[in-house]
Amino acid sequence: MKLNMKMAYAVAYVLYKKHKAKIADIGELENGFYVDFDSKDVISIADFKKLENEITEFIFNRSTKVEAKRKQVEVVRDCPCMSKNKYLSYHVTHQDNKTVKMIKINDEFPFINKLESTNLAFNEIKSFKLENVAGNYWLGSAKNKQLQRITGYAYSSKEELKAFEAEMQDRKERDHRKLGQDLELFTFNDLAGQGAPIWLPNGAAVMYEIDAEVRRILLRNGFHFVSTPILGSDELYKTSGHWFHYRENMFNPLTIDEQVMVLRPMTCPHHMLVYKNRPRSYRELPFRIAEKAILHRYEASGGLIGLERVRQMQLIDTHVMIRPDQIESEIRHYYDVVMETLKAFDIKIHRVDLSLHDPKDKAKYFNNPKMWAKAEKELAAVMDRMGMKYEKKVGEAAFYGPKIDFQMKTALGHIITMSTIQLDFLLPARFDLEYIDKDGKVQRPILVHGGIIGTLERFMSILLESNKGVFPLWLAPVQVQLIPVASVHEKFCDEFAQRLMNHGVRVEVDHTDERLGKKIRNGQIRKIPYQIVFGDEEIKSGTISYREYGKKDVTNVPMAKFGDILVKRIAEHK
Ligand code: ZN
Repeated sequence: MKLNMKMAYAVAYVLYKKHKAKIADIGELENGFYVDFDSKDVISIADFKKLENEITEFIFNRSTKVEAKRKQVEVVRDCPCMSKNKYLSYHVTHQDNKTVKMIKINDEFPFINKLESTNLAFNEIKSFKLENVAGNYWLGSAKNKQLQRITGYAYSSKEELKAFEAEMQDRKERDHRKLGQDLELFTFNDLAGQGAPIWLPNGAAVMYEIDAEVRRILLRNGFHFVSTPILGSDELYKTSGHWFHYRENMFNPLTIDEQVMVLRPMTCPHHMLVYKNRPRSYRELPFRIAEKAILHRYEASGGLIGLERVRQMQLIDTHVMIRPDQIESEIRHYYDVVMETLKAFDIKIHRVDLSLHDPKDKAKYFNNPKMWAKAEKELAAVMDRMGMKYEKKVGEAAFYGPKIDFQMKTALGHIITMSTIQLDFLLPARFDLEYIDKDGKVQRPILVHGGIIGTLERFMSILLESNKGVFPLWLAPVQVQLIPVASVHEKFCDEFAQRLMNHGVRVEVDHTDERLGKKIRNGQIRKIPYQIVFGDEEIKSGTISYREYGKKDVTNVPMAKFGDILVKRIAEHK
């Protein structure tokens, strides 16, 4: 948005004029502008009010005639201003063009023109805000002088600015990294290594609940759970082809007793060995296995984002071995599994993609045009028969085969792949997998890779982004908080807590010395679904009053019945 660029000039001019600043750089950000400057005046956020007034005067005060000119200036030699500002001189000498376009305001303060137009038209700016000021090294190097950077944003109306600020506030509230910290769900520690999340008790409680739910769904849909090693030999990944097609995403290998081992980036190769354990009959197919596995994938450190992009992750991975005549029925079956799971977590699918290979990309894809043609045709035909609406995406397939990708739209509007069903004719051949058909002949199975909710880490970040940390009762880290009115009631609370724990409820007793009101507020901040206060009256009457998070009214129930009510609600996913 050019308005932000114009705003940057306005801020730069005022800093130059009123604070004797040497402007080092100006530019646009995703949602605003920045001005890097060198000044003896150290600007702090406390100075923003004054600075904003100075800028307002400059932009809006008609008595100050603002004249902005764009001028062609010969590189360095022609401009006397260079000697006064070494940063400007740096920019000019690092330009490719022989002439540099400069902007002058009121015939002073020259700076490189970063605008298309000659007209600065400051009066287009109707509303702006300075957001932050921080230290910033010149050219991003700690060896250089530390400058100051002011950031902010500008809009052509007050309403637009207000809408933008409301959106920023919403984003802040949905930031899973902040929620993770506030609700003590997970943490990172350099001692544990970059991109390696540490799940704290609250976060682990949610993670295990998600895991249990997916596990229940898989078990009732004919999957069997296996457990295979975190490390695999280089030969395993050479056999699967990952060594050749996925190497840049794998951790460096380690050598143990002359055997080269790698931390696995996925479970498929190990699962091929599960199938290969003994000869298989056609009667055993579909052969469905699943595993919650810890995986390691290399991500550049700059690309790591909270739980969204990590180096160590947990994935409930599934593989199904089928006969050629079972492609359609298994894809339909898996589709139902995906839908059942997403419904359990209240996730809606935004779009379905049929991800195809790019025949021109020889490096990424296994080279077997016949295999690709067959797999892609069959998958599309099944989707057509299922009446699925989908978009074809060339170049999005896995290296071994085409896939159906279920895309969701996150609360912040990003499109991400939630679930995937992948058809693979390649791995069964590479691992020489077989089954004996009903005529006693040896045949090769087809492999279906299935991912339902992605990694637990990413899934958690998506949940937090959408629920702002307010988990439904069945997923909440702490489901019930018991609050004793005074210390004499603590023992009773502990006993009642134990009774709820016996029901499998996650419960906590507030043993702090805070006042009652503070205890209730603390539970509210932590978004605990049920709060129950225990005092003389409750203990004497045997009736408790509970308050549900986000609701005003208080409900009274006999103490003896509360456990059953709660267990029922948890089971019903309320
Ligand atoms: Zn797989």
